[in-house]
Amino acid sequence: MSKEQLECSFCGRNKAETNLLIAGLDAHICDRCIEQAHGIVLEDSKEDENGVSKADLTLKKPKAIKDFLDQYIIGQEFTKKVMSVAVYNHYKRLLQPSSNDDIEIQKSNILMVGQTGTGKTLIAKTVAKMLNVPLAIVDATVLTEAGYVGEDVESILTRLLQAADYNLEKAQTGIVFIDEIDKIARKSDNPSITRDVSGEGVQQGLLKLLEGTVVNVPPKGGRKHPDQKFIEVNTENILFIAGGAFDGIEKVIRKRLNMQAVGFSASMSNDQVVEKDNLLQYIIPKDIKDFGMIPEIIGRLPVLTHMNPLDANTLRAILTEPKNAIIKQYEKLFEMDDIKFTVTNDALDYIVGKAIEYKLGARGLRSLCEAILTDAMFEMPGGDTKEFKVTKHYAESKLDKSGIQKLKAVS
Ligand code: ADP
Repeated sequence: MSKEQLECSFCGRNKAETNLLIAGLDAHICDRCIEQAHGIVLEDSKEDENGVSKADLTLKKPKAIKDFLDQYIIGQEFTKKVMSVAVYNHYKRLLQPSSNDDIEIQKSNILMVGQTGTGKTLIAKTVAKMLNVPLAIVDATVLTEAGYVGEDVESILTRLLQAADYNLEKAQTGIVFIDEIDKIARKSDNPSITRDVSGEGVQQGLLKLLEGTVVNVPPKGGRKHPDQKFIEVNTENILFIAGGAFDGIEKVIRKRLNMQAVGFSASMSNDQVVEKDNLLQYIIPKDIKDFGMIPEIIGRLPVLTHMNPLDANTLRAILTEPKNAIIKQYEKLFEMDDIKFTVTNDALDYIVGKAIEYKLGARGLRSLCEAILTDAMFEMPGGDTKEFKVTKHYAESKLDKSGIQKLKAVS
């Protein structure tokens, strides 16, 4: 081939039409085709990253995970520590290169037991935020066995897909928080032979999901419909966190502790006494089983942890300390109207006192603050006020006038 006849083997341009023509063994490539090819390589590697959303995962060491949780969650030290390790191990498992040894790290799904409003959902949300993975929050009470009125367990994965904007890869490394898992406990006082639609059947349905399986998921939710296209979701790398109040489980724990009084005291050091008002801290998987969860479910939620009830000090800290603490939020809201907002210590104590008195827990703090501050938030913007200090007296007067009775009724 003479020099003039040389052409790009990819686009067919003559040498004269190109700026540069590079010769390979049996072919030539022009500068344009090189650029195009380079673009394709870049795109491809980007797709790889997105596809294997592992690359998006920001995995921190357990201590760093706990530090992150500390910024948002007050107290609950035990759960935060257990959670940090479980989450770390879960994602380590996910990121592990496939190895030749037979050691397969199993899932570390988590079960959190604790009263409502103690921060279970908040922990799940914070972990998802930290890892930058999609989170689906589902309520176990709406789940029923397939074929009954209610939602199939697959609907959990529909939610996760939605949370991941239908990015399947992302969904498959996401987190599912199943709230009120205790509500699907077997009703032991109802030994009838009729099927336990909302209890054991649902537990059975959940088993496979928790363990890791491929599920046909209707992307838009709803009942399985012959015409609907399914998305195959693999749950193997989805982290499941279950939470529940397990009302009355203290009785089960107390009974076990009493029954095993000898063995129990022997296993505790002498100065350790059983704290009777927080029995939840002694919870073991057997208690969960005695409560009515089937052993297989318990086995698939191997990390068991408890939430402590929120005392006055904790509630007080929740008001002011977390990164997005309620009081900080109001400060910001008023600041946007150029108003310097402050709350005195005795006003804060008063709010906490009311939350406890009305058994509103941490959720009530917000409603109490709203009740106290709504008038000011209505009147002050656009006015002359530049400083707004909430004293106990002010808080009291506003609460007396407002819907405090309503709040009480809610509890
Ligand atoms: P649960 O899931 O246990 O019922 P949530 O996580 O929904 O409770 O908590 C309700 C609200 O109370 C949260 O939005 C949060 O503002 C607050 N809260 C509860 N516990 C804590 C905590 N330990 N630290 C900070 N805020 C908390």
